[in-house]
Amino acid sequence: MNAEKWREIKTLGEFNEIRSRGSGYVVITDKADESTVHATSCGQLTEARFADKVIRNESKFGGFFWTDDLDFAMYKWDAYKCGNCLR
Ligand SMILES: [Zn+2]
Repeated sequence: MNAEKWREIKTLGEFNEIRSRGSGYVVITDKADESTVHATSCGQLTEARFADKVIRNESKFGGFFWTDDLDFAMYKWDAYKCGNCLR
């Protein structure tokens, strides 16, 4: 049993592993905009977006996080549900 509640996604390898595993949620935070929570299958979770935000900008303007709990994600990051993948 994995007790881990959430973690920051720091590498493209981790990001792809989370998407292929398909469980839990991915939160994208943004200092200038709203944070959003996505299903791991959401089409908005692209390598290009991850690479731009986390690798090129070094997460200075926001980052990517994984959690298994939707309510927790919305509370912790004050995140909105993605209108594309979560309704
Ligand atoms: Zn989404």
